[in-house]
Amino acid sequence: MISITEAKKLVEKEIFELKSETVKLRHCQGRILAQTICSDMDMPPFDRSQMDGFAVKSEDVAKTPAKLKIVGESIAGKGWHETLSSGKAVRIMTGAPVPKGADSVQIVELTLEENGFIDILKPTRIAQNIVSKGTEIKENEPIFEPGELISDKMIATLAAFGYTEILVARKPRVAILATGSEIVDIEKTPSRDQIRNSNSWMLEAFAKKYANVEILPIAVDDLVGLKNTISESIANCDCLIISGGVSVGNYDFTKPALREIGAEIFFETVSLKPGKPTVFAKLENTLIFGLPGNPVSVAVTFYVFVQEALLMMQKAKHPELKSGFAKLTNPIKATKERDGLLPVSLETNKNGELTVETLRFSGSSNFIAFSRADALVFVPRDKNLEEGEIAEIYLL
Ligand code: AMP
Ligand code: MG
Repeated sequence: MISITEAKKLVEKEIFELKSETVKLRHCQGRILAQTICSDMDMPPFDRSQMDGFAVKSEDVAKTPAKLKIVGESIAGKGWHETLSSGKAVRIMTGAPVPKGADSVQIVELTLEENGFIDILKPTRIAQNIVSKGTEIKENEPIFEPGELISDKMIATLAAFGYTEILVARKPRVAILATGSEIVDIEKTPSRDQIRNSNSWMLEAFAKKYANVEILPIAVDDLVGLKNTISESIANCDCLIISGGVSVGNYDFTKPALREIGAEIFFETVSLKPGKPTVFAKLENTLIFGLPGNPVSVAVTFYVFVQEALLMMQKAKHPELKSGFAKLTNPIKATKERDGLLPVSLETNKNGELTVETLRFSGSSNFIAFSRADALVFVPRDKNLEEGEIAEIYLL
């Protein structure tokens, strides 16, 4: 049995990186950046007024009220491009360029206009209500680096600097294969001894954030059939995720099937609860994960191993789950010889501390409890965690 860390290293060693491709701005969200994003101009590109009002010289309005002659108008998209001289003011709108010679903008609410003159009712500070050219960024500065996950919050920046197309890593093609003679399609009403296929749908939902996903037809527990299905499917995917059939039961055929078709198996037992019988293998150019069939085991092992692998294939800078710390509100029992990653929800208490709330969890088949999970709490092997202790968590 190997540790979670050792297992992750074995996965990392087998990762092959995917080529990059160009996508339209509209389609880049959720992709991994494969180029550096730079500013193509100063931002703002000119000294910009933040308010509607009057551009003035602050020395002219040191004593107020101060009467100034209105000599022009600077509006967004059409500035006033002369130089402001003493005793004068330019009417200015939000987003419009501040004319040369002016050093501040007084808001319209603090002015009184009459017959082409403006009374400024309050003095201005230098730079008041002006965002000067290049204060947000200078031309040609790097902003985002290759390997960053493109979030919705990054889109405005990409648009502002003219990135109509963006170089990103190709998404891995993922195929999902549920195995088990008791598993039926979700459209069917399970007959006696059957259950619906929840794993494939859950895995699709998880994987499609980072991959193009195909759900394969359910495979019954039959060695020959399983060998054929796996052999055929690997031609069309970069990563095959199999659920079920990885334990030591008489009808668990995932490992024998992988062996007999010549896949190289790198690990098949991990010191992890849930998820001990997780299998990682490779055949030709396809990574193969065999996840234990219980839905919570599937979820945990997907998050711990598969998601990271899908992101590493795209050269993501931070493929691992975000980690942090939170306070336990219940004691948690450790498992002998296996590190635990227990799904929990997170809350904050009256002292503003992040707390771990254990779910009403009856075991790794309880996908209903899992549906409320926010994080996995790390429970080191053989070491019970006490109430009030600060525990390491991984955000889902
Ligand atoms: P296995 O790993 O094949 O021994 O399966 C472990 C448990 O997970 C069994 O109770 C299975 O019925 C259940 N299970 C396996 N595959 C699925 C699936 N696709 N959807 C829901 N439950 C499953
Ligand atoms: Mg099974």
